[in-house]
Amino acid sequence: MSYIPSAELAPRVLQGDRRAIARLLTRAESGVAEARATLDAMFALAGRAHVVGITGVPGSGKSTLVAKLVTEVRKSGRTVAIVAIDPSSPFSGGAILGDRIRMGELAGDSGVFMRSMATRGALGGLAKGTLEVVDVLDAAGFDMIIIETVGVGQDEVDIARAAHTTVVVSAPGLGDDIQAIKAGILEIADVHAVSKCDRADANKTIADLKTMLALGLTHLDREQWSRRTGPDPVVHGKAGADPAYRVDPDFRPDVIATSSVRDQGVTELLSAIDRHRERLERTGEIEKRRASIAERRLLAAGEGILHDAFARHRTGRLSSLLEQLRARTLSPHAAAQRLLRELNLGGDA
Ligand code: GDP
Repeated sequence: MSYIPSAELAPRVLQGDRRAIARLLTRAESGVAEARATLDAMFALAGRAHVVGITGVPGSGKSTLVAKLVTEVRKSGRTVAIVAIDPSSPFSGGAILGDRIRMGELAGDSGVFMRSMATRGALGGLAKGTLEVVDVLDAAGFDMIIIETVGVGQDEVDIARAAHTTVVVSAPGLGDDIQAIKAGILEIADVHAVSKCDRADANKTIADLKTMLALGLTHLDREQWSRRTGPDPVVHGKAGADPAYRVDPDFRPDVIATSSVRDQGVTELLSAIDRHRERLERTGEIEKRRASIAERRLLAAGEGILHDAFARHRTGRLSSLLEQLRARTLSPHAAAQRLLRELNLGGDA
């Protein structure tokens, strides 16, 4: 397979050519320099899709629910791309097209595109690559892009927060009644899905969640986050500390009971997701979210540039800096300032 320059892939991507999309996604994910200008062009063309983050602890039924949701989105006449962030996968590149068994029934549907990504990459590289993948799919014309992540770490929370609408999935029978609290992801929910509602113990999970929401626990969480981390949400990535994140004081997330085995609640879940999007548009909050996502991306991109430049020079002209740091003759703060001066990151450093 000869290497097709990214600039030549671009028009095919815009026409929805799946092979071209897959190739460009691989380049976005691995940060290939040759693809930079094309990815920047994709960014300029993106911004139309409804980006939906779906998160929840492992075993909460996310994957099964996403497959059902995708079918529902298709029934509504929309196209949909799924970016599944797989923390266990040592591979990247999502080489297998339409790659999961659960997507089997949707495999032949040109209105569905599935991509898996490994999470464990270079620091800062993950979020950047993920959102560029989203840009490509957005520019390729998919109406909805679902980012499915495991809600256990800050990276995953950050990715979910790159979405316009975030669905947090909780399930009965996983030990903790509301796993989202423990995982620190309750706060980011725009819509709650309680999965496996065919189980008898699901009622308790739903009731607990509703009680908690009624008590405004998420609001309390937010204040606690702010006190702990300070007001800068971008650096700390804490959902609750971001004043721009939720500006609508009357907002209460819907709680939707779903069962993938009984095909229940999936229509309602899509309706809740759509309602949330409408609300964002109506209140103007969508612009605030876009601004907050843009800000995160700016800092993530800056971090990426810094990491790359550091990696190139750490054994060369930065080695004396590192030695002084090790010897404690230079503080980390002073060293960082020298690092930035040394690297002269004003351009393509
Ligand atoms: P994920 O790790 O969050 O993606 O969860 P999965 O979708 O892989 O599901 C975890 C387990 O829950 C699997 O054994 C599923 O068969 C089961 N499961 C998923 N959805 C349902 C449901 O609606 N009802 C019941 N009873 N089990 C479910």
